[in-house]
Amino acid sequence: MTEKIYLKNPYITEINARIVEKKYSNNKFYLKLDRTIFYPNLAGGQPGDKGTIAGVKVIDTYEENNDIIHIVNENIDTNKVQLSIDWDTRLDYMQQHTGQHLLSSVFYKLYSAQTLGFHIGEDYVYIDITIPELKIEDIERVEIVANKIIYSNFSINTYIVQKNDLDRIPLREKPIVDSNIRIVEIDDIDYSPCCGTHLRNTGEIGMIKIRKSEKYKENTRVEFVCGNRALKDYSQKNLQINNISALLSINDTNVYEKVEKLYTQKEKLEKENRILKEELLKYKCEKLTNKEEL
Ligand SMILES: [Zn+2]
Repeated sequence: MTEKIYLKNPYITEINARIVEKKYSNNKFYLKLDRTIFYPNLAGGQPGDKGTIAGVKVIDTYEENNDIIHIVNENIDTNKVQLSIDWDTRLDYMQQHTGQHLLSSVFYKLYSAQTLGFHIGEDYVYIDITIPELKIEDIERVEIVANKIIYSNFSINTYIVQKNDLDRIPLREKPIVDSNIRIVEIDDIDYSPCCGTHLRNTGEIGMIKIRKSEKYKENTRVEFVCGNRALKDYSQKNLQINNISALLSINDTNVYEKVEKLYTQKEKLEKENRILKEELLKYKCEKLTNKEEL
C-alpha cells in the first residue's frame, strides 16, 4: 500500500521515495512507490497533481487497490527517487476543493440542499445541488455567509474515525467506506467524509464567487470559483467592463443600461433598414416593368 503523504500533510511539495514496482506497457512506465505526495487523478472529483519523479514529468496518476500508480514516458534507472509536485496547481485545487466543502455546507444549512456531484475543471468548478431553482437573492445570501466564514479564518482539521463514532458526528453526507473514515471538519461548522487535499483554515480559500447557476435535470448546477481563480475571473471581467465603458464613453456602473439601449436601437434600425430595402426592391421592380412595357 502506498503511504499517502498528501493526506497527512498536503503542504509538502518535495520528498524522497522508493520505486517498489515498475511495469512497462504501450511505451509508458507505470511506477508504484513506497510513499507519494501525488494526489491521484480524479479521485473524488479532484484532479491529480502535476510534477516530476527524479526530474521526469509525471503524465498521469491513478489509484488502484490502495496504491497510487504514477505514469511516466521515460525510464528511471534508480529506485531511490525525489518526488516534486507543482505547488501552484496543488494550492489551486485545495482552494477550489476546500471552497466546495464550505459552499456545499452553506447550501445545506440555508436550504437543506444536498450536494450530488462536484467537478474541478481547468477553468471552472461546479456542484450539483438538490434545489430546483436558485434566485439571485439566494445566491447573494449564500455568498455572504460563505465569505464571512472565510474572513473569520476558522481552522480545518482532518481525522480518522470508525463506524461506531459516527453517531456523535453530524455528517453532512454518508461515507462511502465502512472503516477508517476520514473526516474533514471546518471548526464545528461542517463535517464531511473526504479523502482529498484541504487547506488548514478557511482564510486560505481567499474568496468564493458564484459565476452562474442553471437547471440541471431536477437539480441546480452551481458554477463557482475560489481564491486565485476568483481574482483572475474578476480581473478578466474588470478589463472587459473597462474596455466597454471606454468605448461607449460611460461610467463602468452604467454599462448594462447603455448596452441594452444600444441593442434596442440596433434592432429598431435593422427593422427600418429591412423595410427600406423591401421598398427599394419594389420600386426597382416597378421601374423595370414600366420600362419593358414601353
Ligand atoms: Zn474534500
